[in-house]
Amino acid sequence: MTTLAITGATGALGRLVVADLLESGTAPDEVVAVVRNPAKAASLAEQGVTVREADYADPAALRTALEGVERLLLISGDAVGARVEQHTNVIEAARDAGVAHIVYTSILNADASSNPLADEHIATEKVLAASGVAHTVLRNAWYSENYTTQLPQYLATGEILSATDDAPISAAARADFAAAAVGALRSAGAESRTFELGGPAFTLTELAEAITEATGTTVVHRVVSADELVATMTSDGQDATWPNIQARVDRSIAAGEMHTDSKALEELMGHAPTTITEVVRAAV
Ligand code: NAP
Repeated sequence: MTTLAITGATGALGRLVVADLLESGTAPDEVVAVVRNPAKAASLAEQGVTVREADYADPAALRTALEGVERLLLISGDAVGARVEQHTNVIEAARDAGVAHIVYTSILNADASSNPLADEHIATEKVLAASGVAHTVLRNAWYSENYTTQLPQYLATGEILSATDDAPISAAARADFAAAAVGALRSAGAESRTFELGGPAFTLTELAEAITEATGTTVVHRVVSADELVATMTSDGQDATWPNIQARVDRSIAAGEMHTDSKALEELMGHAPTTITEVVRAAV
């Protein structure tokens, strides 16, 4: 029996990981869901999964929650700015509890990316490397759902606005990243590994074409400069904080930093990733 723990198990990715583990034959009593709010984990407990409470800010609770765990999936938190300290707490607790292998969800091309979200992932990767615990870094590209959740806006305006220069994006479905995380947990051993994970690349023009085809409503990709993007996004009085981050993210994409030719996603999943056309059709 190998005890596997998943942090962030009540989040979107974490729920998919637990579901994939159970569907693909892992016994529920081998799965520990580490959550900050057990009330959100009732359905996991009903399936026989062990639910343990620990916030990333609470080292003692993390240490207790990881007792007896052999392999851990540390799903990166969402509190931008606080994540290095939070992830360090989890990694140190895992080391102290004797966890043999930590799998961590990072960002694509983390060590060569100007994406404003990459800094905390790189810092976490360094903490992992210094921990002495064997680890697997899953450098996940964007979720395709980052785009499909914006479908209502695309359809209402008839356009996707970006400063990406229509560069290719190796996004993949969240469920595919979950399946890859399961593959990484199952194959984890004594060696440390880093995988660049991305799906079949598409441009936002190709995304617009897929949306047009699936909905019958014409959507186009309008490429603008970073300054024009910020100006357009703030024209209704919106604060510039998010538009400025969006502009930096888009320039990172334009530089090719959200693209990979790596086939590691497919290899860890054991089958071909979902295409953006399929994700769009499902979302529609
Ligand atoms: P999500 O649904 O927001 O899940 C985040 C999970 O982290 C939730 O379960 C949340 O707990 C947990 N969490 C946050 N702060 C915590 C804390 N202080 N202590 C314990 N748990 C904490 O995000 P997701 O879609 O599953 O994605 C997983 C992670 O990938 C995100 O957190 C983020 O780092 C990253 N991400 C990647 C992309 C991408 O495109 N690749 C996009 C968005 C995010 P609750 O369930 O209690 O809220």
